[in-house]
Amino acid sequence: MWNRHWPAAALAGLVLLGASAYSLDRDHGPAGASPGAAPPDAAAIRAAVERIDEDAIIANDAHSREWLSYNHGYAEQRYSRLNQIDTQNVSRLGLAWSFDLGSTRGVEATPVVVGGTMYLTGPWSVVHALDAKTGEELWRYDPRVPPDYASRACCDVVNRGVAVARGKVFVATLDGYLVALDPATGKELWRRDTFGKYRDKYTQTITGAPRVIGDLVLIGNGGAEMGVRGYLTAYRMEDGEQAWRWYSVPEDPEPPFHDASMALAASTWDPEGAWRQTGGGGTMWDSMAYDPELGLLYVGVGNGSPWNREVRSPAGGDNLFLSSIVALEAGTGRYVWHYQEVPGDTWDFTATQQIILAELDIDGSERKVLLHAPKNGFFYVIDRTNGRLLSAKPFVEVNWAEGYGDDGRPIEVEGARARTAPWETKPTAYGAHNWHPMSYNPETGLVYIPAQGVPLAIESDPEYQVDTHQPGHPMSNLGWNLGYLVNTIAPEARPFGHLLAWDPVAQREVWRQDYLSPWNGGTMTTAGGLVFQGTADGRFLAYDAADGNPLWEVPVSSGVIAGPSTFELEGTQYVSIAVGWGGVYGLAQRHTEQMGSGRVYTFRLDGTAPMPDVQPTENPRGTTLVSGYDYDEQDVGPGALLYVSSCLFCHGLPGINNGGALPNPGYVDVQTLESLPELLLTGAWSASGMPDFEGKLTKAEARKIAAFIQSIAESVTRAVPDAGS
Ligand code: CA
Repeated sequence: MWNRHWPAAALAGLVLLGASAYSLDRDHGPAGASPGAAPPDAAAIRAAVERIDEDAIIANDAHSREWLSYNHGYAEQRYSRLNQIDTQNVSRLGLAWSFDLGSTRGVEATPVVVGGTMYLTGPWSVVHALDAKTGEELWRYDPRVPPDYASRACCDVVNRGVAVARGKVFVATLDGYLVALDPATGKELWRRDTFGKYRDKYTQTITGAPRVIGDLVLIGNGGAEMGVRGYLTAYRMEDGEQAWRWYSVPEDPEPPFHDASMALAASTWDPEGAWRQTGGGGTMWDSMAYDPELGLLYVGVGNGSPWNREVRSPAGGDNLFLSSIVALEAGTGRYVWHYQEVPGDTWDFTATQQIILAELDIDGSERKVLLHAPKNGFFYVIDRTNGRLLSAKPFVEVNWAEGYGDDGRPIEVEGARARTAPWETKPTAYGAHNWHPMSYNPETGLVYIPAQGVPLAIESDPEYQVDTHQPGHPMSNLGWNLGYLVNTIAPEARPFGHLLAWDPVAQREVWRQDYLSPWNGGTMTTAGGLVFQGTADGRFLAYDAADGNPLWEVPVSSGVIAGPSTFELEGTQYVSIAVGWGGVYGLAQRHTEQMGSGRVYTFRLDGTAPMPDVQPTENPRGTTLVSGYDYDEQDVGPGALLYVSSCLFCHGLPGINNGGALPNPGYVDVQTLESLPELLLTGAWSASGMPDFEGKLTKAEARKIAAFIQSIAESVTRAVPDAGS
């Protein structure tokens, strides 16, 4: 068992999928807004948000004075026409202000700026309204997400931000509510339960930023790792009444179907598969884009649940609409077309990564296209009027498909589904490009992609059972449904991360900048000829968009995962980035000693505010490998299997590195290991998101986990004598 499911080979410096637990302690009282220091000019703030509608969002594209939605506008390009800051003067950028979010978990939000007010979210779906000129907090809204949602989420308690329109600020919370707030006070105007009848049936979350179209506000759900049915819902902005819902996968293989698209999808699923219990997946947790001329909403659909199609749909099938781009009529949610990038997904190859709309000259004619660089490593150019694939080329090393045929389908590599033998996938479930937003500059014609590789091997799990704790089966004690074992062989690839400038017409790399590690921040590009990006090693940089020449950089208080935004106020251009290390990869590992709390930094030319202290901070969790815990050698093997099923994706391998946003258990003190059974089974850390393992583990099992932790810490100490100092 020990050797088969989790060999010592895993010690070869692996990095593993992360999930969640832990944060700063929070008061989990009733949801509500708290006022900031200065009484804002409420009427002016409300008026600024009241005038935002579809026309205003489109009009802003012509000058970009405001940053009105997560990815700037409906084309989702993250391209600003502001050019006060340019390649000649960017070296003069200085801090205008910074604001401490008071958070310790991943910050994925892009600051949205309307009038003179900035709205952004921190971890736990907390909304902050700041004076965009001074950084002074006007109000904050804490939806008081129950702490157990930390372990219901695959990928940290993150949130990517708000939407604003028609006098309201919209936020979607980790526990599934869509909330409309008063832009001047943060007071709740209405609140809708988006999980509804599925709240008790599935383990689901929301991490995405809502989008606004016409009089509708749209949001999807997340949670395909655990098991959920994917859907996207449109609500009336005015009162929160549901306008329409589109499901990405059928609920039942037999009619009646929710709509015609579900009838089309049903025949692509094996009626006997595990998807009947797990919901099938297909969550739409991030990307949307909108073409007002065509009236089409484009949405990216997530992976299958369970991951492994062999158990999800044993007879095979494309499993529509997993891993697809789908075009819907924006006003009605009616299905129009789809393009499935990965038929019968089995690798967690979501198509939820950002969708960019652009007009490109292809073979002598201007085409309305959709650009996509999802997890699976291919860059897609799709005709967005009809969903036809124009081209697909790999932007990183890819080993699951040789390319795409004339029929628009991938030519799969034999063995890549790991049916009978382990397979090191390239890319992996972490994605060649994940949610970290990319950007497109129409002047350079280039797309700026936070590209990466995080090694992982998968092997089909013949013993997998739906919703069952099976020691050795990844995170199965916390509700994960993969149908795969991971890293039963040690991956040979090395992790990497770089900023990739990609020509979408020629489908080739133009330049790149290599980084220390994967999991770097999103990008933003401007008419000043610049690309901005933060990095996992705790810097914020500006590059020449044409050739990638680095022009400016500044150290920030932790690793950066979010994307920047820019705006103009009283004739001055500002650039903002929200900083806070975390997310699925960042939970268990990090690449800087700078682990300060979440913080927003805003820069301008000749800004003179002093940078907050970013000296490397002593890791508060201890830097010495645990020693002295007395254990029975026979407990180590079973303890390893329990660790894999209960702890691994959140806390990484004990002693392999010193934790990410969460502590690494190899560095606790011996008293913690001695009292681990009591700590785990009494919910000692549950206020900060750690699950209460009462009913999930026995005290004897907790002692076996402690034995495993101590044993590995000793192995690391022997192999790397100075690892603990
Ligand atoms: Ca996934």
